[in-house]
Amino acid sequence: MTSSATRHFFVTTALPYANGPFHIGHIMEYIQADIWVRFQRMVGNKVHFVCADDAHGAPIMLKAEAEGVTPEALVAGIAADRGKYLEGFQISFDYWHSTHSPENAELSTAIYRELKAAGLIYVKPVEQFYDPVKQMFLADRYIKGECPNCHSKDQYGDACEVCSSVYAPTDLIDPYSTLSGAVPVRKTSDHYFFKLSDPRCVEFLNGWLNAPGRLQPAVANKAREWLTTQGDQALSDWDISRDAPYFGIPIPDAPGKYFYVWLDAPIGYLASLKKYFDSGKARENGEPRTFDQFLSAPEVEQIHFIGKDIIYFHTLFWPAMLKFASRKVPDHVYVHGFITVSGAKMSKSRGTGISPLRYLEIGMNSEWLRYYLAAKLNANVEDIDFNPDDFMARVNSDLIGKYVNIASRAAGFITKRFEGKLLPVDGTRSVATAKWNELALQRETQIREYYEERELGKAVREIMELADAMNAAIDREKPWELAKDPAQATRLHEVCSDCIHAFRQLTLYLAPILPRTAERAAVLLGLEMPLRWSQLRDGGAGTIKPYEHLLQRVDPKQLEALFDFGVPKDKTEATASATAAPTGKSPEAGLAEIAIEDFAKIDLRVAKILQAEAVEGADKLLKLTLDIGDAQRTVFAGIRSAYTPEQLAGRLTVVLANLKPRKMRFGLSEGMVLAAGPGGKEIFLLSPDSGATAGMKVK
Ligand SMILES: [Zn+2]
Repeated sequence: MTSSATRHFFVTTALPYANGPFHIGHIMEYIQADIWVRFQRMVGNKVHFVCADDAHGAPIMLKAEAEGVTPEALVAGIAADRGKYLEGFQISFDYWHSTHSPENAELSTAIYRELKAAGLIYVKPVEQFYDPVKQMFLADRYIKGECPNCHSKDQYGDACEVCSSVYAPTDLIDPYSTLSGAVPVRKTSDHYFFKLSDPRCVEFLNGWLNAPGRLQPAVANKAREWLTTQGDQALSDWDISRDAPYFGIPIPDAPGKYFYVWLDAPIGYLASLKKYFDSGKARENGEPRTFDQFLSAPEVEQIHFIGKDIIYFHTLFWPAMLKFASRKVPDHVYVHGFITVSGAKMSKSRGTGISPLRYLEIGMNSEWLRYYLAAKLNANVEDIDFNPDDFMARVNSDLIGKYVNIASRAAGFITKRFEGKLLPVDGTRSVATAKWNELALQRETQIREYYEERELGKAVREIMELADAMNAAIDREKPWELAKDPAQATRLHEVCSDCIHAFRQLTLYLAPILPRTAERAAVLLGLEMPLRWSQLRDGGAGTIKPYEHLLQRVDPKQLEALFDFGVPKDKTEATASATAAPTGKSPEAGLAEIAIEDFAKIDLRVAKILQAEAVEGADKLLKLTLDIGDAQRTVFAGIRSAYTPEQLAGRLTVVLANLKPRKMRFGLSEGMVLAAGPGGKEIFLLSPDSGATAGMKVK
């Protein structure tokens, strides 16, 4: 092996929009990037791996408004939830930041000023759709209409999901506001543009995206197509401003104008890295340089993992912005496809996705998913499918049946018969298992290349072929038979030692995918942490600790629980249901069991509805004043479609009294009344039998 110089990486995943929890697509991207990052660290390269919440824009502003909170509070709530997913799936980000941060405001403003100084910013009046009911200019996504290119109905204002055309919302045929349903009116306002069509940008981008190995071939083709299309489809300049009201970063010297969220979102990569450096965490990770020194160092490689839906932004605007603001440009943009579940595209409303949080909450092992996704991922822009039966078969047969099995078959004999001592690797011995180590090392370069090239499925296949070869050799030697014959003690020792050595090599090969199992195996094997690729060649004798169970099989009941749940239940939906009645969601059969102690945390009481009234501006809500025995409470309930205020006053129901109060636009909601039914007219409020009185505990 020739030793090559240490490489220095700055790696990001796409910034998730901070209006909701992670979905399985986010987790897939993070796992893909994390495996690659862990591999780079294992082979001795230095990686700084960061991400951030994408916090700005109209959707967050409007969602916060609907919930009666500030946008800052909304994104802070989302951010507070991120850790349990990232830790749960073992994503090894060095830093997680937010685009709503001083670092991002500073960098966005600086980059804008540099682009302006380079003559690439200009102002132009734009006639744009304005919602006369909501009194605001409509962001592209709040306008729908017919695609001017392929005439598909109900397409968003910026791009067609059917034919992928990119256009202005005013090009749509028969537009309507999705906020109010009103027909939008045209109104003119000054907008700021980034001149992407400037010959300097075009020349730079041509060179950038055609650099060998920069982009996957399919991605480079797509970008080239956008760049070179002529005529009325020529490369458009980029509208980078939005008018107030907007949640974003103000444009300097332009009152009432904000940077469009897509300008400051990618700059958030740099903002997160800056905060990571400025906070001293990079130094703790052995990085002596400052943020500016690091990013201006020519050897640093900047790499972005993204999904195929945001190629345009990352292969045209982003590199051009960086280039003409005199900054490092991305070395690679690695694009992946989408994840489908049992062949169906993910849809929150239909509930066919997998809730990552539920996956963790029902006790499924994150490494099952990491392994399964790795086995399916490759370097192409292809969609991959999560199939529950395939998932269970693959995890159980590969990880348990092939990999862990090698250790569990041999470790007991080593511990009980040979005081934990291993014989050294020796390919000249006559046992069938002796030659395996040589084979494993022959595959090293190939496996390493597959990891490097993000051909994770191929890497997994190579590794599992090695596991198959070892299991076949074990079956020939039958250590469980050898153990019955005292005369075969040496042979037993040789075979079992080979098994443990093989398990060590497989563990090292799989460590980027299975970090936790690798860590536990390292304890058994006495391997020094953190694991390094070079340990593959350490070989030699040693002793092992008593074997402990490393990995469980997938239980079909868990998969049932994962899917029977119906609609992914995440934090925002759970809180939403505190005030809105159950909508058309399927019954939540198959929830994980809870202990009586869990139920005891729930303060259910009989409540008397003293007063019920309609809420102005909320056609689904009724404001209820409840007597709960020792106090009065106000609860906003989404039951107006099924009850009039008159039907409710004076009756008894059941209230969840210790639900965390929730601030809404209309006031504070201090509990939740219980109802059944799919929604609409079919909402059925619970009531106790006669004799119950307000304040009685339900148990
Ligand atoms: Zn179209």
